[in-house]
Amino acid sequence: MDQNYSTTHDPSTNTEPLGMAPTSSPLSQNMTNDDKTTTGGFQAQKKGIINASGTDPNKILPFQYPWAREYYKQGVANNWTAEEVSMQRDIELWKTPGALSDDERRMILWNLGFFSTAESLTANNIVLAVYNHVTNPECRQYLLRQAYEEAIHTDTFIYCCDSLSLDPDEIYNMYLTVPTVKAKDEYVVKFTQSVMDSNFSTTGTANIQKFIFDVVGFYIIMEGIFFYAGFAMMLSLLRNNKMIGIGEQFQYIMRDESIHVNFGAELINTIVAENPEVWTPEFKAQITEAIKGAVDLEIKYAEDCLPRGILGLRADTVSDYVRHIADRRLERINLDTVYGVENPFPWMSEIMDLSKEKNFFESRVTEYQTGGNLDW
Ligand code: MN
Ligand code: FE
Repeated sequence: MDQNYSTTHDPSTNTEPLGMAPTSSPLSQNMTNDDKTTTGGFQAQKKGIINASGTDPNKILPFQYPWAREYYKQGVANNWTAEEVSMQRDIELWKTPGALSDDERRMILWNLGFFSTAESLTANNIVLAVYNHVTNPECRQYLLRQAYEEAIHTDTFIYCCDSLSLDPDEIYNMYLTVPTVKAKDEYVVKFTQSVMDSNFSTTGTANIQKFIFDVVGFYIIMEGIFFYAGFAMMLSLLRNNKMIGIGEQFQYIMRDESIHVNFGAELINTIVAENPEVWTPEFKAQITEAIKGAVDLEIKYAEDCLPRGILGLRADTVSDYVRHIADRRLERINLDTVYGVENPFPWMSEIMDLSKEKNFFESRVTEYQTGGNLDW
């Protein structure tokens, strides 16, 4: 196993590593006397998941954060592509007048509108913000994998638009034209703007807190809360045997996203463990408030998608599901829960827990594995 590699570093070079963020300082600039040891050189510095100017981003072994490696392997084991999923029955259903109700069509379009652009926003944040500041090589390996998965998700919505002959201008403008979708995207972007500034650095408590907010904004709020009302709606469609191609693709996306959320939470928990001074009562309260604000927006979105009950779903049960999910996210980053609501959709956790078994929609085996994780 990879984890068996020793974590001692080989002090063989003493130069500024290539591939640091453009804003990174020269080798010794961020070093305090505590960081330096008598052996000198960046290998001897304290290494952290951020502000590790002593880390060589090109030297992946030995691993410092085996969990990042583990998430990478889980991502690879879940490999899929959009065009493996047949859209034939979806196309027939979509084009048959009366086969879907107006409310069902609205719910599908609103979710395609939200996800089609949310995937790009997420991918841009990984590449333009997170990757710059997280220089640890196994974390970067995971971020590259995640960026690839976001490209697959982006591809899914291109494929759905093409297959169903949807108007791309309508779908890809919904993040501007549908107020409840626009509100979610603006909320995330507002929290994370400062980190996108090319002069931003993660030096100092206030900047580390800003960076944690970026990770909360995209991993916990966007991927961990704003995706989940949509997942519940689209997977209800699948449970009702409607739009099974799109439903199956949402199932794969949800499986990927659950790993993204876990990586983000682990990233937050590691930054906090390495910089405990940032985790003040005020900062924790600020994050909890941000999550509560996100829950309110997600509930408004669910009400907009589901003006009347359909497919065994009502806006109020979807809202309880969102509250339940938000509590799980709070727990995962060691914050107190807020809502104390039971999961109204236990079948959603069953889908997540399906492992190496044929999925219960009987369309295909979901849990196929590739590469080194395949049992021959
Ligand atoms: Mn995604
Ligand atoms: Fe994601």
